[in-house]
Amino acid sequence: MKRILYYLIPTASLFLILFMACSSTNVDSADEDTASEGSVDITAVVQANYRNDYTEGVSVQVNDNSIQVSSTGLPDHKTPYWGVGHEMYEDFPGTNHANMNTSMTTFNYVMTIPTKPQEASYKEETELGPVGMALNGVPIYNDYEGGGMLEENAWGTFDASGAHPGPREDYHYHCEGTYLTVDDANLIGFLRDGFPIYGRKDMDGTYPDNLDDNGGHIGVTADFSDAIYHYHTSNDVYSTSGLYVIKSGAYYGTKGTFSQ
Ligand SMILES: [Zn+2]
Ligand SMILES: [Zn+2]
Repeated sequence: MKRILYYLIPTASLFLILFMACSSTNVDSADEDTASEGSVDITAVVQANYRNDYTEGVSVQVNDNSIQVSSTGLPDHKTPYWGVGHEMYEDFPGTNHANMNTSMTTFNYVMTIPTKPQEASYKEETELGPVGMALNGVPIYNDYEGGGMLEENAWGTFDASGAHPGPREDYHYHCEGTYLTVDDANLIGFLRDGFPIYGRKDMDGTYPDNLDDNGGHIGVTADFSDAIYHYHTSNDVYSTSGLYVIKSGAYYGTKGTFSQ
């Protein structure tokens, strides 16, 4: 019925504002509600899921309308980039990998995201650098590397987690991989616009077939019983890599800051 009215009423935009205001009355702090905010609060899910049991280098601070997630950027899992002899060292996957001499170092990352992420009217393209943060505090990058798109000389340096350090020894994920997500519905982290990103499947075990140009759609997830916009890891193999890029394209919402 509401959908029908939406199309019938000439002043559709005004009705949409009223509808959004009404639909958010289940929020306790009604005084903070405005039509410009999203309707789903991510605070509890962020607080419950961001942690790094190995480095203990991840923390969450909640402010009035925003959440700051801080991290050192080091992973909580095995990778060759800890260095030979380290207790968390493991070999590269397969035999055909580049011989990287790079190691990982610590950063003071702070990602600031809204408590109630909302759709942006203009969808800003993601760029080189952190586009989000995995739940263990490691930055998520898109399908760019250096001056252009990911090429074989880059994905040839990935560990089993689809990750590698950049020139500044900044470890980051590009693709699906062990310890993060492999053909599942895992919550991976949040992008800089505050919307969550999942593995390639929805929680019912199916591959989503209605993703928009930004790689997401609106629906309930294992973490959000109220329908929320969420991204999925791409279901298209990237070039000849055999890998699935976590995020490419534009943000659905307004990009927050990611300082380092
Ligand atoms: Zn990279
Ligand atoms: Zn989904």
